[in-house]
Amino acid sequence: MNKNIKKFMSAILVTSIAFGLAACGSGQKAASGVESTQKKDTIKIGYLPITHALPLYVENELAKDNFKETNLELVKFGSWPELVDALNTGKIDGASVLIELAMKAKEQGIDLKAVSLGHRDGNVAVVSPHINNVSDLKGKNFAIPHRLSTHNILLYKMLKKAGLSQADVNVIELPPAEMPAALAEGRISGYIVAEPFGAKAVAINKGKVLLQSKDLWADSVCCALVLRDEFIKNHNDSAQEFVNEYVAAGEKAETKDGQIHEISSKYMKVDQKVLDLSLKWISYNDLKIHEKDYDELRNTLIEMNLSQNPPKYTEFVDNSLINKAK
Ligand code: ZN
Repeated sequence: MNKNIKKFMSAILVTSIAFGLAACGSGQKAASGVESTQKKDTIKIGYLPITHALPLYVENELAKDNFKETNLELVKFGSWPELVDALNTGKIDGASVLIELAMKAKEQGIDLKAVSLGHRDGNVAVVSPHINNVSDLKGKNFAIPHRLSTHNILLYKMLKKAGLSQADVNVIELPPAEMPAALAEGRISGYIVAEPFGAKAVAINKGKVLLQSKDLWADSVCCALVLRDEFIKNHNDSAQEFVNEYVAAGEKAETKDGQIHEISSKYMKVDQKVLDLSLKWISYNDLKIHEKDYDELRNTLIEMNLSQNPPKYTEFVDNSLINKAK
């Protein structure tokens, strides 16, 4: 072997080692001989910093170091469209997301499965202090975060119960973070949105609770934990481990104890009074998606003309993981 060939061969060897280490995704650790991290899958889960995604924060803080199969990586987003785009393009493997947005993505051909709820209840209709009943909202501005949301459905049900329709109020879409200020300044007379944005207006006495989601729709479905089909199929052990710990994290979240307050404060910048209220309205019990609740959601989406052909329960809900979770 002449000198040039030797040089060429050693260059190839160095390059392949470098690529080999890079490919395992944890070059530093592999080089220092930490075997276990090399073999773990990484599961990337998207979220927005809201009370509705609390089990994810609890799982990330309390359980992820015990994972045998998975490296959990939470990815924070600033808005639903950004999160849904990352989910649709496979930049993340799953997310805690408004279920209606995930259903729309599924309807458009993205292979997603809803494997658990994010929470139960936890949405309130917040109104200006001078609004005393639903009919007072006639002709007023009322905000929701997105047409495709449980918040829009709750508004629809609230108006329907009072003998009104959505044409009787000016429904506007606003970013959630702007809603408490818009109410305080009188630009809107009320809103329904994910927590903690309802509690924010109530805590500073600029708004009051007109109705809670459980008064309007028992067992309402709002956020779901969704995973990409390919992740469930190709990394089933990791998906199972992730859901096992997610369910346990939901049970821990439901205690709403000091540790849960501490964890919440780490992921959401809210003061204690807001957090207390927000946690009072929500529950993390029984996170399985039941068929009758999903069907109620699906039928209402059709009734409201928000979706022509939302996915059926059997096409979209996968209980195989949550059924095995202890
Ligand atoms: Zn929600």
